Amino acid sequence: MKWQGRRQSSNVEDRRGQGSRGKAVTGGSIVVVLIVLALNFFGGETGQQLAPIVEQIGNSQTMQQTEQRELTPREKEMGVFMATVLGDTEDVWSQVFRENNLGEYKYPKMVLFSNFLTTGCGNATADAGPFYCPADHKLYMDLEFFNELKNRFGAKGGDFAIAYVTAHEIGHHIQTLLGTSQKVTQLQRQTNKIEANKLSVALELQADFYAGIFAHYDQKYLEEGDIEEALSAAKAVGDDAIQRRTQGNVIPDSFTHGTSEERMKWFMKGFKTGDIRQGDTFSEILN
Ligand SMILES: [Zn+2]
Repeated sequence: MKWQGRRQSSNVEDRRGQGSRGKAVTGGSIVVVLIVLALNFFGGETGQQLAPIVEQIGNSQTMQQTEQRELTPREKEMGVFMATVLGDTEDVWSQVFRENNLGEYKYPKMVLFSNFLTTGCGNATADAGPFYCPADHKLYMDLEFFNELKNRFGAKGGDFAIAYVTAHEIGHHIQTLLGTSQKVTQLQRQTNKIEANKLSVALELQADFYAGIFAHYDQKYLEEGDIEEALSAAKAVGDDAIQRRTQGNVIPDSFTHGTSEERMKWFMKGFKTGDIRQGDTFSEILN
């Protein structure tokens, strides 16, 4: 991706290098942070709460202990890259909203973090992976995740893999602005687990479709191999791929994000059409 020397978004909060950790208050009980879905990287981030990803046990209070450290040159470069990608999403989605009479595109904020973090959706550790919190309209990006994606999940890596994941999380912001996420959460409360999972899959695939729309509009900055990087990342985070790697078998009813094939398919549909009206993942998944 051609990203150097371009506009950077001013909507980035960089909290890396601030080693805040949850610590028990003097004499209190110990805070246990249980990572329920340690391997389900994008899991649970579609609902209103982060609760499925991280749960706190006990009623102890946490205290933020902050220690500052200087970011490395590589970390600084990543910060510039992330701000540039976020800037691109602002430009692209402002245009798409305008062209489709969807009203004004409200910019989300992006928080770069490492270690422990308190969000509008509860507490998160870096193990949660990147996620979007609808309650505060912020994307929380743990950049370590991208090393994991490559080293543990076998994705190709590359800058556009990171842009894809970012654009997917922005996709959840779009769904929140358009009211889709709220409708899905409502429907999920009224149905059984299997149907609720299907709704989650449709929502996630639509976020992949929106990531494809972003790539379509951002084409002037793409380089050869970028789309392959995005597809490789989409493939690596398919539910079937993750289940095969972590539990050895595949249980389709438990899918919450869609298979590798579906994720790649919907990303490509967005990329090829550039047409937001063609992103009805719901009628396909629910039928
Ligand atoms: Zn997602």
